[in-house]
Amino acid sequence: MSERTTGLGYDCHRFASGRRLVLGGLEIPHETGLLGHSDADVLTHAIIDALLGAAGLGDIGQHFPDTDERYRDADSLGLLRSAVQLLGQAGFRPVHVDATVILERPKLAEHRDVIRSLLSDAIGLDPAHVNVKATRGEGMGFVGRQEGAAALALATIERQ
Ligand code: MG
Repeated sequence: MSERTTGLGYDCHRFASGRRLVLGGLEIPHETGLLGHSDADVLTHAIIDALLGAAGLGDIGQHFPDTDERYRDADSLGLLRSAVQLLGQAGFRPVHVDATVILERPKLAEHRDVIRSLLSDAIGLDPAHVNVKATRGEGMGFVGRQEGAAALALATIERQ
């Protein structure tokens, strides 16, 4: 049996006016967006960290530093593709990704299939192996107060 490993990713970003809300590569209409050096795609960032973690390759900040002008307003799906390439160079390929977005508003249900499709295309997996869930903060904490959004991801990879 091939060697499989699992990695965990977590990210959060603050809401700010005048910013786009991009989740899993999809721009979602909303009165505010997430603040960050890149496009602040919290979901994609959590997945990148999960993949890098599974391969023992550190974290997103080491590979795509937010002090680097190359990554200003960067398309995080592009960073995800680069992370998958890094895995490939290290001899790994993704097998399965499961992620949860933690967001009070807007509702993600109607966008979930598109997000899955965008993410699975960037990762190079069948959409059946890129699961995206969403939950709310139930009015509690920074998510509940709509100050920001967070995401968690688990990635399973195997040696090629
Ligand atoms: Mg981030």
